[in-house]
Amino acid sequence: MSSALIPIDKALDFLMSVAEENPDVITVALPQALGCVLADSQHAAFDVPDFDNSAMDGYAINTADIPESGVTLDVSQTIAAGHVGSPLKSGTAARIFTGGKIPQGADAVVIQENTRAENGQVTILGIPAKGENIRLQGHDIEKGSEVLTRGHQLRAQDLGMLASLGIASVSVKRPLRVAIINTGDEVIAPGQPLGPGQIYDSNSFTLEGLLTGMGMQVIKKGIVEDSLASTEVALKSAASDADCIISTGGVSVGDEDHVRQAVENLGELGLWKLAIKPGKPFSYGRVAGVPFFGLPGNPVAVFVTFSMLVRPYLLKIQGCRTLAPPSLQIKSGFSLASANSRLEFVRVRLQTNAKGEQVLEAFGNQGSSIMTSLSWADGLAEIPLGETVALDQYLKFIPFNGLL
Ligand code: AMP
Ligand code: MG
Repeated sequence: MSSALIPIDKALDFLMSVAEENPDVITVALPQALGCVLADSQHAAFDVPDFDNSAMDGYAINTADIPESGVTLDVSQTIAAGHVGSPLKSGTAARIFTGGKIPQGADAVVIQENTRAENGQVTILGIPAKGENIRLQGHDIEKGSEVLTRGHQLRAQDLGMLASLGIASVSVKRPLRVAIINTGDEVIAPGQPLGPGQIYDSNSFTLEGLLTGMGMQVIKKGIVEDSLASTEVALKSAASDADCIISTGGVSVGDEDHVRQAVENLGELGLWKLAIKPGKPFSYGRVAGVPFFGLPGNPVAVFVTFSMLVRPYLLKIQGCRTLAPPSLQIKSGFSLASANSRLEFVRVRLQTNAKGEQVLEAFGNQGSSIMTSLSWADGLAEIPLGETVALDQYLKFIPFNGLL
């Protein structure tokens, strides 16, 4: 193993130490807040629910009126959701529907399946417990309690919960603007005919999708030819528009790799050889003060280095509390006899084995240019550096849907 290779943890620690939270805050209406990061913790201004109400369709009664099963009561009123009844007359029942406000004097709701109704009366077939089928005021959210913490990235259910508190707009971190530059004389945009020796740009689409899924704004700077001048023009333009710049390709040490020189001319650059597979070449620096990531050109290496290093860095700048993607321990359905000198991210799919257990199956071709491996897979399995893999060994599995 080359001593020049940097372990991913070291690279991540360094990036975390230089990532500074962006202070910009905006106010957005709830529907637009999906994927945004809360700038302030949110508190309940009132109890939810705000009043005791029925959890079921049935009859509101006072348990003191039902000493035994089979008691028959007059039905004195009907209370539908959104309507307020009158205090329950002693010795009577109120017909009540789910969400209806419990009338004063009632202390339980008997579900209609446990009753027999006829001629304006109801017979209670069973002895109800005090409080049965009553959703008490504040049993979901108590007035004044913190419901969401600053730095939380809002999901659909969070918007619903905020709405239940009457909150129509929230203060969130301004979504970061991230510029994407794709280098390569061979790279052209899809939609045009492919000439000899050319390939379609896939990296910008992968990155755009990942960034958009993270709630960020993407500025595509397009495909840049392999020349120092063009690379500098694109970088300068990106630095004036964006909070962070990501380039793909052109960062190795070939004669047509100009990214390194261009970034050094406009700022500073650290070129790293990471002890990960795929994704060995990786660079971080600044262009006119704006953070810059130079990712490899190979599509799988782009996906892996972005997900493992750029993603947590951007989330920290965005003010997110949770930076690491969720992971699970899942049994391996494959084996690897030879150990790797780099930590390997294997593209895997969840499968059910003959014993009915969920196991990880690996894609056949794990090359760093094999885009189909990513589309086929459900996530990445982490194979620690220097380790072999035996069948049924537990591996760390990082599902793709946790990377958005
Ligand atoms: P490079 O680092 O520029 O030498 O690129 C490494 C490999 O990635 C080459 O085979 C490139 O053709 C390929 N590549 C570079 N940029 C892209 C892109 N935007 N989309 C797909 N493949 C790319
Ligand atoms: Mg290139």
